[in-house]
Amino acid sequence: MKLILLGAPGAGKGTQAERLCKTLRIPTISTGNILRAAMKDGTPTGLKAKAFMDAGKLVPDDVIIGIITERLAAEDCRKGFILDGVPRTIAQAEALENAGIKFDAVVSIEISDQEIMQRMSGRRVCESCGASYHLVAVPPKKEGVCDACGGKLVQRKDDAPETVKARLEVYHKETEPLKKFYAERGLLKPVQNQPQVAETTQAILHALGR
Ligand code: AMP
Repeated sequence: MKLILLGAPGAGKGTQAERLCKTLRIPTISTGNILRAAMKDGTPTGLKAKAFMDAGKLVPDDVIIGIITERLAAEDCRKGFILDGVPRTIAQAEALENAGIKFDAVVSIEISDQEIMQRMSGRRVCESCGASYHLVAVPPKKEGVCDACGGKLVQRKDDAPETVKARLEVYHKETEPLKKFYAERGLLKPVQNQPQVAETTQAILHALGR
C-alpha cells in the first residue's frame, strides 16, 4: 500500500499516519520530521531549511525531492509507505510520478481553517519535558505550569497565530491544487475530520476499503 496523506497543517496528518502505519504495517515518511532531525543535528540540509520552516514557508522543492527520493529507496519502503506532509506542491507530485511511484490512494483530511486556528493557538508544550497541552481541550491543572514536571508551558514558535496563518495560506495556494491533480488520476479520497482521533482513523480505513 502506497498512501499519501494530504491536509492542512494541524489537520492531524502526523497523528493519523502514526496510527495507520501500525494497522497497515508500513513505515510513515514525514519530511517535516526528517527536516526537524536535520535541523537538530545541524546538517547542511537542516541549516538550509531552518529559515523557511521558522517563517512557515515551504522548503524549496529540490531539497525536498532529494530527501524523499533517498528515503523511499530504503529497504523498509519496499512493501509500501505512508507519506505525511509530502508532496506539498505540484512539482513534488510530478517528481514522484516521474520516479515511477504508483500510489494506491491519496487521503485528504478535510477540516476548516477556523478549527485549525483554534487548535493550534491553544496548543502549549512544556519547555522541560515536552508534554503537550491544550488551553481548552487538555488544560493543565495550574495555568502555565506542567502537571507532570512543574516546568513552564510555552507556545511552539510555528504555532504562533501569524505563523499558522502563513502556513494555511501556503497550504491553500501550493498544496490544495494537489487534490485536483490526484482526483484527475482517480486516487483522491476526501475524509472529514471527526471529533475523536480514533473516529478519523476509522473513516480513513473505511475510505481505503479496510
Ligand atoms: P510539517 O511537520 O509537515 O508541518 O512540516 C513543517 C515544516 O517543514 C513546513 O512548514 C515546511 O517549512 C517544511 N516542510 C515539510 N515538508 C515539506 C515539503 N514536502 N515541502 C516543503 N516544505 C516542507
